Amino acid sequence: MMKFKYPLAKPIITQDDINSVVQVLKTPYLSLGPKLKEFEDAFAKYIGVKYAAAVNSGTSALHLSMLALNIGPGDEVITTPFSFIASANSILSVNAKPVFVDISPDTLNIDPTKIERAINERTKAILIVDIFGLPNQVEEIQKITKKHNLYLVEDACEALGATYDGKKCGSFGILSCFGFYPNKQITTGEGGMVCSNNLTLLRLVQSLRNQGRSPTASWLEHKILGYNFRLDELSCALGLSQLKRIDTILKQRNLIADLYNEKLKDIEEITTLKSSFNNKLVRSWFVYVVLLKNKRWRNRIISELSAKGIQTNTYFPAIHLQKFYKEKFGYKKGDFPVAEDISSRTLALPFYNSLTKKDIDYIVSSLKFALYKVKKL
Ligand SMILES: *Cc1c(COP(=O)(O)O)cnc(C)c1O
Repeated sequence: MMKFKYPLAKPIITQDDINSVVQVLKTPYLSLGPKLKEFEDAFAKYIGVKYAAAVNSGTSALHLSMLALNIGPGDEVITTPFSFIASANSILSVNAKPVFVDISPDTLNIDPTKIERAINERTKAILIVDIFGLPNQVEEIQKITKKHNLYLVEDACEALGATYDGKKCGSFGILSCFGFYPNKQITTGEGGMVCSNNLTLLRLVQSLRNQGRSPTASWLEHKILGYNFRLDELSCALGLSQLKRIDTILKQRNLIADLYNEKLKDIEEITTLKSSFNNKLVRSWFVYVVLLKNKRWRNRIISELSAKGIQTNTYFPAIHLQKFYKEKFGYKKGDFPVAEDISSRTLALPFYNSLTKKDIDYIVSSLKFALYKVKKL
Protein backbone atom coordinates (compact mmCIF):
# COMPACT_ATOMS: atom_id res chain seq x y z
CA MET A 1 0.00 0.00 0.00
CA MET A 2 1.37 3.38 -1.00
CA LYS A 3 1.63 5.96 1.77
CA PHE A 4 0.35 9.44 0.93
CA LYS A 5 1.04 12.57 2.93
CA TYR A 6 -2.54 13.53 2.08
CA PRO A 7 -4.70 10.38 1.95
CA LEU A 8 -8.24 10.52 0.57
CA ALA A 9 -9.78 9.95 3.97
CA LYS A 10 -8.63 9.60 7.55
CA PRO A 11 -10.75 8.67 10.56
CA ILE A 12 -10.43 11.03 13.50
CA ILE A 13 -10.28 9.04 16.73
CA THR A 14 -10.32 10.96 20.02
CA GLN A 15 -9.16 9.88 23.47
CA ASP A 16 -12.85 9.55 24.43
CA ASP A 17 -13.35 7.14 21.53
CA ILE A 18 -10.38 5.07 22.69
CA ASN A 19 -11.53 5.09 26.31
CA SER A 20 -15.00 3.91 25.40
CA VAL A 21 -13.63 0.94 23.45
CA VAL A 22 -11.16 0.03 26.19
CA GLN A 23 -14.00 0.20 28.70
CA VAL A 24 -15.84 -2.55 26.80
CA LEU A 25 -12.74 -4.75 26.84
CA LYS A 26 -12.87 -4.73 30.62
CA THR A 27 -16.36 -6.25 30.65
CA PRO A 28 -17.48 -9.79 29.80
CA TYR A 29 -19.70 -8.45 26.98
CA LEU A 30 -17.89 -8.32 23.66
CA SER A 31 -20.97 -9.12 21.58
CA LEU A 32 -24.73 -8.73 22.15
CA GLY A 33 -24.16 -6.61 25.25
CA PRO A 34 -25.52 -3.27 26.43
CA LYS A 35 -23.65 -1.11 23.87
CA LEU A 36 -25.63 -2.58 20.99
CA LYS A 37 -28.97 -1.26 22.18
CA GLU A 38 -27.43 1.99 23.39
CA PHE A 39 -25.92 2.63 19.93
CA GLU A 40 -29.13 1.64 18.13
CA ASP A 41 -31.33 3.82 20.33
CA ALA A 42 -29.04 6.85 20.03
CA PHE A 43 -28.80 6.39 16.27
CA ALA A 44 -32.56 6.04 15.77
CA LYS A 45 -33.09 9.17 17.85
CA TYR A 46 -30.56 11.13 15.80
CA ILE A 47 -32.13 10.10 12.48
CA GLY A 48 -35.66 10.61 13.75
CA VAL A 49 -36.95 7.07 13.26
CA LYS A 50 -38.50 4.71 15.77
CA TYR A 51 -36.10 1.77 15.38
CA ALA A 52 -32.57 0.90 14.32
CA ALA A 53 -30.70 -2.41 14.04
CA ALA A 54 -26.90 -2.43 13.96
CA VAL A 55 -25.13 -4.82 11.60
CA ASN A 56 -21.53 -5.52 10.62
CA SER A 57 -21.42 -3.40 7.42
CA GLY A 58 -23.43 -1.13 5.18
CA THR A 59 -23.46 -3.95 2.63
CA SER A 60 -25.06 -6.27 5.22
CA ALA A 61 -27.63 -3.57 6.01
CA LEU A 62 -28.63 -3.39 2.33
CA HIS A 63 -28.63 -7.18 1.90
CA LEU A 64 -30.87 -7.71 4.95
CA SER A 65 -33.21 -4.94 3.79
CA MET A 66 -33.78 -6.77 0.51
CA LEU A 67 -34.34 -10.08 2.37
CA ALA A 68 -36.70 -8.53 4.93
CA LEU A 69 -38.84 -7.10 2.11
CA ASN A 70 -39.00 -10.59 0.60
CA ILE A 71 -37.42 -9.41 -2.64
CA GLY A 72 -36.06 -12.36 -4.61
CA PRO A 73 -35.87 -14.23 -7.91
CA GLY A 74 -38.18 -12.76 -10.57
CA ASP A 75 -38.36 -9.37 -8.84
CA GLU A 76 -36.87 -6.13 -10.13
CA VAL A 77 -35.54 -3.20 -8.13
CA ILE A 78 -34.97 0.20 -9.70
CA THR A 79 -31.74 1.93 -8.69
CA THR A 80 -28.92 4.21 -9.81
CA PRO A 81 -25.88 3.13 -11.84
CA PHE A 82 -23.80 5.91 -10.26
CA SER A 83 -22.97 4.57 -6.81
CA PHE A 84 -20.62 2.42 -4.81
CA ILE A 85 -21.25 -1.08 -6.10
CA ALA A 86 -22.74 -2.39 -2.83
CA SER A 87 -26.11 -0.72 -3.50
CA ALA A 88 -26.79 -2.60 -6.74
CA ASN A 89 -25.09 -5.75 -5.46
CA SER A 90 -27.61 -6.00 -2.62
CA ILE A 91 -30.27 -6.64 -5.25
CA LEU A 92 -28.14 -9.33 -6.90
CA SER A 93 -27.45 -10.89 -3.49
CA VAL A 94 -31.10 -11.92 -3.24
CA ASN A 95 -31.16 -13.00 -6.91
CA ALA A 96 -33.41 -10.13 -7.98
CA LYS A 97 -32.62 -7.89 -10.95
CA PRO A 98 -31.22 -4.37 -10.58
CA VAL A 99 -32.85 -2.09 -13.16
CA PHE A 100 -30.83 1.07 -13.64
CA VAL A 101 -32.25 4.49 -14.34
CA ASP A 102 -29.90 7.31 -15.37
CA ILE A 103 -28.99 10.15 -13.02
CA SER A 104 -29.66 13.85 -13.04
CA PRO A 105 -26.56 15.87 -14.03
CA ASP A 106 -27.23 18.36 -11.21
CA THR A 107 -27.78 16.15 -8.18
CA LEU A 108 -25.94 13.06 -9.53
CA ASN A 109 -28.78 11.05 -7.93
CA ILE A 110 -31.37 8.98 -9.81
CA ASP A 111 -33.46 11.19 -12.13
CA PRO A 112 -37.08 10.95 -10.90
CA THR A 113 -38.43 11.98 -14.31
CA LYS A 114 -36.96 8.81 -15.84
CA ILE A 115 -38.14 6.30 -13.25
CA GLU A 116 -41.71 5.55 -14.35
CA ARG A 117 -40.81 4.18 -17.76
CA ALA A 118 -38.66 1.52 -16.03
CA ILE A 119 -41.54 0.20 -13.91
CA ASN A 120 -43.32 -3.03 -14.84
CA GLU A 121 -45.28 -5.76 -13.05
CA ARG A 122 -42.05 -7.30 -11.67
CA THR A 123 -40.88 -4.06 -10.02
CA LYS A 124 -40.92 -4.35 -6.22
CA ALA A 125 -38.90 -1.41 -4.95
CA ILE A 126 -36.90 1.70 -5.71
CA LEU A 127 -33.49 1.75 -4.02
CA ILE A 128 -32.29 5.33 -3.86
CA VAL A 129 -28.70 6.23 -3.00
CA ASP A 130 -27.90 9.63 -1.49
CA ILE A 131 -24.71 9.96 -3.50
CA PHE A 132 -21.84 11.97 -2.02
CA GLY A 133 -24.19 12.76 0.89
CA LEU A 134 -26.81 14.63 -1.16
CA PRO A 135 -30.46 13.72 -0.44
CA ASN A 136 -32.64 12.46 -3.27
CA GLN A 137 -35.70 14.34 -4.54
CA VAL A 138 -37.78 12.48 -1.99
CA GLU A 139 -41.21 13.93 -2.75
CA GLU A 140 -40.99 13.20 -6.48
CA ILE A 141 -39.88 9.64 -5.74
CA GLN A 142 -42.48 9.03 -3.02
CA LYS A 143 -45.17 10.10 -5.48
CA ILE A 144 -44.01 7.28 -7.78
CA THR A 145 -43.69 4.62 -5.07
CA LYS A 146 -47.19 5.44 -3.79
CA LYS A 147 -48.75 5.44 -7.25
CA HIS A 148 -47.23 2.08 -8.20
CA ASN A 149 -47.30 0.52 -4.72
CA LEU A 150 -43.52 0.03 -4.47
CA TYR A 151 -41.20 -0.07 -1.49
CA LEU A 152 -38.81 2.83 -1.07
CA VAL A 153 -35.44 1.68 0.28
CA GLU A 154 -32.79 4.25 1.08
CA ASP A 155 -29.05 3.71 0.86
CA ALA A 156 -28.02 6.62 3.07
CA CYS A 157 -24.57 5.13 3.68
CA GLU A 158 -22.94 8.36 2.46
CA ALA A 159 -25.48 10.76 3.93
CA LEU A 160 -25.35 10.70 7.72
CA GLY A 161 -26.68 14.09 8.82
CA ALA A 162 -27.97 15.19 5.39
CA THR A 163 -31.51 16.60 5.33
CA TYR A 164 -34.37 16.80 2.86
CA ASP A 165 -36.82 19.55 3.78
CA GLY A 166 -35.44 19.52 7.30
CA LYS A 167 -35.83 15.76 7.77
CA LYS A 168 -32.81 13.48 8.02
CA CYS A 169 -31.78 11.12 5.27
CA GLY A 170 -32.34 7.60 6.47
CA SER A 171 -35.88 8.42 7.60
CA PHE A 172 -37.55 8.12 4.20
CA GLY A 173 -37.19 4.45 3.26
CA ILE A 174 -39.42 1.72 4.64
CA LEU A 175 -35.92 0.48 5.46
CA SER A 176 -32.90 2.80 5.30
CA CYS A 177 -29.26 1.81 5.46
CA PHE A 178 -26.05 3.31 6.82
CA GLY A 179 -22.42 2.20 6.76
CA PHE A 180 -19.57 3.01 9.15
CA TYR A 181 -16.47 2.16 7.15
CA PRO A 182 -13.49 4.38 8.15
CA ASN A 183 -14.11 6.93 5.37
CA LYS A 184 -17.70 7.67 6.44
CA GLN A 185 -18.85 10.58 8.62
CA ILE A 186 -18.59 8.30 11.67
CA THR A 187 -16.85 4.96 11.82
CA THR A 188 -17.01 1.75 13.81
CA GLY A 189 -14.17 0.15 11.82
CA GLU A 190 -16.61 -2.00 9.88
CA GLY A 191 -20.28 -1.56 10.65
CA GLY A 192 -23.72 -0.56 9.48
CA MET A 193 -27.27 0.21 10.56
CA VAL A 194 -30.80 -0.40 9.31
CA CYS A 195 -33.36 2.25 10.28
CA SER A 196 -37.14 1.93 10.11
CA ASN A 197 -40.45 2.98 11.58
CA ASN A 198 -41.84 -0.50 10.90
CA LEU A 199 -41.41 -2.76 13.93
CA THR A 200 -42.24 -6.02 12.12
CA LEU A 201 -39.60 -5.39 9.46
CA LEU A 202 -37.04 -4.29 11.99
CA ARG A 203 -37.60 -7.42 14.11
CA LEU A 204 -37.08 -9.46 10.96
CA VAL A 205 -33.77 -7.68 10.27
CA GLN A 206 -32.72 -8.38 13.88
CA SER A 207 -33.53 -12.04 13.42
CA LEU A 208 -31.78 -12.29 10.03
CA ARG A 209 -28.58 -10.74 11.38
CA ASN A 210 -28.52 -13.26 14.20
CA GLN A 211 -28.83 -16.71 12.54
CA GLY A 212 -32.60 -16.48 12.17
CA ARG A 213 -33.23 -16.49 15.91
CA SER A 214 -36.32 -14.61 16.97
CA PRO A 215 -35.61 -12.11 19.75
CA THR A 216 -37.61 -14.23 22.19
CA ALA A 217 -36.44 -17.70 21.06
CA SER A 218 -33.69 -19.69 22.73
CA TRP A 219 -30.09 -19.59 21.40
CA LEU A 220 -30.40 -22.82 19.42
CA GLU A 221 -33.81 -22.24 17.94
CA HIS A 222 -33.63 -20.91 14.38
CA LYS A 223 -37.00 -19.99 12.94
CA ILE A 224 -35.74 -18.83 9.55
CA LEU A 225 -32.51 -18.96 7.52
CA GLY A 226 -30.27 -16.27 8.94
CA TYR A 227 -26.73 -14.94 8.92
CA ASN A 228 -24.12 -13.71 11.31
CA PHE A 229 -24.16 -10.00 10.48
CA ARG A 230 -23.94 -8.87 14.12
CA LEU A 231 -22.01 -5.77 15.20
CA ASP A 232 -19.70 -6.40 18.20
CA GLU A 233 -19.69 -4.32 21.38
CA LEU A 234 -16.31 -2.67 20.66
CA SER A 235 -17.67 -1.30 17.39
CA CYS A 236 -20.94 -0.20 19.01
CA ALA A 237 -19.02 1.65 21.71
CA LEU A 238 -16.88 3.43 19.10
CA GLY A 239 -19.96 4.36 17.07
CA LEU A 240 -21.75 5.64 20.14
CA SER A 241 -18.77 7.74 21.15
CA GLN A 242 -18.49 9.27 17.66
CA LEU A 243 -22.23 9.87 17.42
CA LYS A 244 -22.01 11.97 20.59
CA ARG A 245 -19.96 14.57 18.71
CA ILE A 246 -21.67 14.21 15.32
CA ASP A 247 -22.67 17.89 15.16
CA THR A 248 -19.06 19.02 15.59
CA ILE A 249 -17.83 16.43 13.08
CA LEU A 250 -20.30 17.56 10.43
CA LYS A 251 -19.67 21.26 11.07
CA GLN A 252 -15.94 20.74 10.50
CA ARG A 253 -16.55 18.75 7.34
CA ASN A 254 -18.78 21.57 6.04
CA LEU A 255 -16.07 24.14 6.74
CA ILE A 256 -13.46 22.14 4.84
CA ALA A 257 -15.76 21.56 1.87
CA ASP A 258 -16.69 25.26 1.82
CA LEU A 259 -13.02 26.18 1.84
CA TYR A 260 -12.30 23.87 -1.10
CA ASN A 261 -15.34 25.19 -2.99
CA GLU A 262 -14.27 28.77 -2.38
CA LYS A 263 -10.71 28.18 -3.57
CA LEU A 264 -11.77 26.20 -6.65
CA LYS A 265 -14.75 28.26 -7.76
CA ASP A 266 -12.88 30.42 -10.29
CA ILE A 267 -11.07 27.58 -12.02
CA GLU A 268 -12.92 27.17 -15.27
CA GLU A 269 -11.61 23.64 -15.93
CA ILE A 270 -13.40 22.39 -12.82
CA THR A 271 -16.98 22.20 -11.61
CA THR A 272 -17.50 21.96 -7.87
CA LEU A 273 -20.51 20.29 -6.22
CA LYS A 274 -23.06 22.37 -4.34
CA SER A 275 -23.62 21.91 -0.64
CA SER A 276 -27.37 22.41 -1.03
CA PHE A 277 -30.21 22.87 -3.52
CA ASN A 278 -32.79 25.54 -2.63
CA ASN A 279 -32.08 24.87 1.03
CA LYS A 280 -34.29 21.79 0.60
CA LEU A 281 -31.66 19.19 -0.23
CA VAL A 282 -28.82 19.77 2.23
CA ARG A 283 -25.69 17.70 1.71
CA SER A 284 -23.65 16.03 4.42
CA TRP A 285 -20.20 16.00 2.81
CA PHE A 286 -18.96 12.42 2.51
CA VAL A 287 -16.14 12.73 -0.01
CA TYR A 288 -14.99 15.93 -1.68
CA VAL A 289 -15.46 15.40 -5.41
CA VAL A 290 -15.00 17.83 -8.30
CA LEU A 291 -15.84 17.35 -11.97
CA LEU A 292 -13.17 17.96 -14.59
CA LYS A 293 -14.35 19.64 -17.79
CA ASN A 294 -12.36 17.13 -19.85
CA LYS A 295 -12.19 13.44 -18.97
CA ARG A 296 -8.92 13.03 -20.88
CA TRP A 297 -7.09 15.07 -18.25
CA ARG A 298 -7.93 12.79 -15.39
CA ASN A 299 -5.29 10.04 -15.39
CA ARG A 300 -2.48 12.52 -15.82
CA ILE A 301 -3.80 14.72 -13.01
CA ILE A 302 -4.07 11.72 -10.72
CA SER A 303 -0.44 10.80 -11.30
CA GLU A 304 0.78 14.41 -11.02
CA LEU A 305 -0.98 14.76 -7.65
CA SER A 306 0.19 11.35 -6.52
CA ALA A 307 3.80 12.43 -7.10
CA LYS A 308 3.12 15.31 -4.70
CA GLY A 309 1.84 13.01 -1.97
CA ILE A 310 -1.82 13.73 -2.70
CA GLN A 311 -4.15 10.75 -3.02
CA THR A 312 -7.14 11.12 -5.33
CA ASN A 313 -9.71 8.72 -6.72
CA THR A 314 -12.36 8.36 -9.40
CA TYR A 315 -15.60 7.95 -7.40
CA PHE A 316 -17.49 6.14 -8.91
CA PRO A 317 -17.15 4.05 -12.06
CA ALA A 318 -20.63 3.39 -13.51
CA ILE A 319 -21.90 0.11 -12.07
CA HIS A 320 -23.50 -1.16 -15.28
CA LEU A 321 -20.07 -1.13 -16.95
CA GLN A 322 -18.44 -3.35 -14.32
CA LYS A 323 -17.41 -6.67 -15.85
CA PHE A 324 -19.96 -8.98 -14.23
CA TYR A 325 -22.87 -6.60 -14.83
CA LYS A 326 -21.97 -6.39 -18.51
CA GLU A 327 -21.70 -10.17 -18.73
CA LYS A 328 -24.85 -10.93 -16.78
CA PHE A 329 -27.16 -8.27 -18.23
CA GLY A 330 -25.53 -7.24 -21.50
CA TYR A 331 -25.11 -3.61 -20.48
CA LYS A 332 -22.89 -1.54 -22.74
CA LYS A 333 -21.42 1.92 -23.09
CA GLY A 334 -24.09 4.45 -23.92
CA ASP A 335 -26.87 2.80 -21.89
CA PHE A 336 -26.80 5.51 -19.18
CA PRO A 337 -25.00 8.45 -20.77
CA VAL A 338 -25.28 10.92 -17.89
CA ALA A 339 -23.86 8.48 -15.34
CA GLU A 340 -21.11 7.50 -17.78
CA ASP A 341 -20.17 11.09 -18.54
CA ILE A 342 -20.08 12.08 -14.86
CA SER A 343 -18.15 9.01 -13.77
CA SER A 344 -15.49 9.68 -16.42
CA ARG A 345 -14.83 13.19 -15.04
CA THR A 346 -14.95 12.86 -11.24
CA LEU A 347 -11.94 13.48 -9.08
CA ALA A 348 -12.10 12.98 -5.31
CA LEU A 349 -9.60 15.03 -3.31
CA PRO A 350 -8.32 14.38 0.23
CA PHE A 351 -11.12 15.07 2.69
CA TYR A 352 -10.97 14.67 6.47
CA ASN A 353 -11.32 16.82 9.52
CA SER A 354 -7.65 17.26 10.35
CA LEU A 355 -6.91 19.03 7.03
CA THR A 356 -5.70 22.56 7.74
CA LYS A 357 -6.12 25.68 5.59
CA LYS A 358 -2.47 25.30 4.63
CA ASP A 359 -3.01 21.68 3.55
CA ILE A 360 -5.93 22.76 1.37
CA ASP A 361 -3.88 25.56 -0.16
CA TYR A 362 -1.18 23.05 -1.04
CA ILE A 363 -3.68 20.57 -2.55
CA VAL A 364 -5.46 23.29 -4.54
CA SER A 365 -2.27 24.83 -5.91
CA SER A 366 -0.97 21.36 -6.82
CA LEU A 367 -4.22 20.69 -8.66
CA LYS A 368 -3.97 24.02 -10.49
CA PHE A 369 -0.42 23.24 -11.54
CA ALA A 370 -1.41 19.75 -12.71
CA LEU A 371 -4.23 21.28 -14.78
CA TYR A 372 -1.82 23.78 -16.30
CA LYS A 373 0.54 20.93 -17.25
CA VAL A 374 -2.11 18.64 -18.80
CA LYS A 375 -3.61 21.48 -20.80
CA LYS A 376 -0.22 22.27 -22.34
CA LEU A 377 0.00 18.72 -23.70
C1 LIG B 1 -20.06 2.89 1.99
C2 LIG B 1 -21.23 2.56 1.19
C3 LIG B 1 -21.95 1.38 1.43
C4 LIG B 1 -21.61 0.40 2.53
O1 LIG B 1 -20.35 -0.03 2.51
P1 LIG B 1 -19.72 -1.01 3.60
O2 LIG B 1 -18.27 -0.93 3.27
O3 LIG B 1 -20.28 -2.36 3.37
O4 LIG B 1 -20.03 -0.52 4.97
C5 LIG B 1 -23.08 1.16 0.68
N1 LIG B 1 -23.48 2.03 -0.27
C6 LIG B 1 -22.81 3.15 -0.53
C7 LIG B 1 -23.34 4.07 -1.58
C8 LIG B 1 -21.65 3.45 0.18
O5 LIG B 1 -20.97 4.57 -0.10
